[in-house]
Amino acid sequence: MEVKINNIRKEFDRFAALHDVSLNIASGELIALLGPSGSGKTTLLRLIAGLDFPTAGQIFFGEEDASHHSVQDRNVGFVFQHYALFRHMTVAQNIGFGLKVRPSASRPPKSEIKKRVSDLLDMVQLSGLENRYPNQLSGGQRQRVALARAMAIEPRILLLDEPFGALDAKVRKELRRWLREFHDRTGHTTVFVTHDQEEALELADRVVVMSQGKIEQVGSADDVYDRPQSPFVFSFIGESSHLPVEVKDGAVLFQGEPIGISQGSDSAGDLFFRPEDVVLTDEREALSGKVTASRRLAGTRIAEIDIANNGHAPFHVEVEVPLHAPIELGSEARFRPTRWKIFTK
Ligand code: ATP
Repeated sequence: MEVKINNIRKEFDRFAALHDVSLNIASGELIALLGPSGSGKTTLLRLIAGLDFPTAGQIFFGEEDASHHSVQDRNVGFVFQHYALFRHMTVAQNIGFGLKVRPSASRPPKSEIKKRVSDLLDMVQLSGLENRYPNQLSGGQRQRVALARAMAIEPRILLLDEPFGALDAKVRKELRRWLREFHDRTGHTTVFVTHDQEEALELADRVVVMSQGKIEQVGSADDVYDRPQSPFVFSFIGESSHLPVEVKDGAVLFQGEPIGISQGSDSAGDLFFRPEDVVLTDEREALSGKVTASRRLAGTRIAEIDIANNGHAPFHVEVEVPLHAPIELGSEARFRPTRWKIFTK
């Protein structure tokens, strides 16, 4: 099911939690809503679910304007971080619940419910545990039951709000991989909310980066990491440093001095680069500063460098250097960015 979000605005007591948000989600896509706390991720997910309604704008499910349809009419499945299972019901009863409570006209016969529950147990790889109660399961197993319960009603789309948030790092990673496989097998259009960028970049077909109620960028993991379109996305995704620069006659200048990189048109702005996109150099035209710290990171080393500022507070940057580079605390290091972007002011 394709979902189209057109110019959505959502206000709470005149506070706009979402401003003019538009997004097209293709059928069968796995989309992550990623952003800091308060950026509007959950609000957007709740509007798609029909748990809340937009102040302005529309949400289409396929060709149908679903903006004011109820949750039931939208037929969506959702899993929340704290959406507890029914404690007094077994795994099988939890999964079958959504079908059992349907009005008699649309309720499948008992034998059909039993078959569907059994298929879903297979699908979430929990066969054999159908008679257990939730408190007899691990956290990861409980979330898989929650997912099976959401799938039981044959939803048109699946909405997940920080589904693995409460689990420890190792289980999260396992479930992440499992969810990707599950999605590829079932082909449901799925939207999940996370503030964990590793989770979003690894799992999603496309990542929607949000900040302050707006979409900053939508793209694949490569797009948002390698081609960030705003200072916010550059800073929020991965590690980066930035420095105020000017471009004059094609040369990029930091504090009036050329730093050995060039760019087309004259401007002033902030130069952003990632720690891994620099090279140490002996050239005169380079950035230089004092090494204030250095730490080992897997196969490389991260050096923290304070770039002098003619007597003012120094700019602090982090760069990745080869493990055996002659980087000593207190010494001077010179480097140039090899990949960068200047956002003009
Ligand atoms: P988190 O990662 O912390 O869950 P989020 O990106 O999901 O954050 P939302 O929960 O969508 O953010 O909230 C967006 C903004 O809207 C926040 O400033 C929040 O305080 C506000 N907000 C959300 N729900 C309500 C509500 N029911 N009444 C008033 N303000 C709300």
